Amino acid sequence: MRVLLTEDDRMIGHAVQTALRQDGCVVDWVRDAESADAALLAGSFDLLLLDLGLPGRDGISLLRELRARRDATPVLVITARDAVEDRIAGLDAGADDYLVKPFDLDELAARMRALLRRSAGHGTAYLEHRGVRLDPGTREVTRHGKPVSLSPREYAVLEALLLRPGVVLSRAQLEDRLYGWSESVESNAVEVYIHGLRRKLGHDMIQNVRGVGYFVPREATAPDEA
Ligand code: CA
Repeated sequence: MRVLLTEDDRMIGHAVQTALRQDGCVVDWVRDAESADAALLAGSFDLLLLDLGLPGRDGISLLRELRARRDATPVLVITARDAVEDRIAGLDAGADDYLVKPFDLDELAARMRALLRRSAGHGTAYLEHRGVRLDPGTREVTRHGKPVSLSPREYAVLEALLLRPGVVLSRAQLEDRLYGWSESVESNAVEVYIHGLRRKLGHDMIQNVRGVGYFVPREATAPDEA
């Protein structure tokens, strides 16, 4: 999951970034609304974590503009005060969920997973496909009930593909899910992860459209269970 964190408080920002990275997320951190706006216009994120109280332009104004231009990025708002008006303003401006400071980092991660699921139209916690099951809560992957060991980046590629069955993701879109701004992209990295996933999960699991990208085929019938 690639996350844009907008938070001016250094301690909170650092704590959130560190915790989410340990959770396997790619996290880019900006300190104000203008930088967040620029980042959102430049790239795609699975989720925006937005502190409402920012120096200069506030989070609500950014959120309103985002929704006005039909940017549907899921937004989890972070408010400093437990004021009901703030929460209502955030939700009315287009936030999908909110947390009040101080919040528990595990709760933040759980809410983010739930948001990601809902935005992808999944009601259940698991992502399942052709006997392969991915549990975003524990990051465990099984195939026909047997545990499969994936590297963090193989996991990230698989999660991105399983969230949108039938949708072809380009190499650039997958790289976006694997690397933050500060990291350099290794050439052929995506191909290497796809190769690893196919070896561990079965060759048919991930298909490619030559010159376009990769996808997991949508299935008309129920997954074949072990
Ligand atoms: Ca703040």
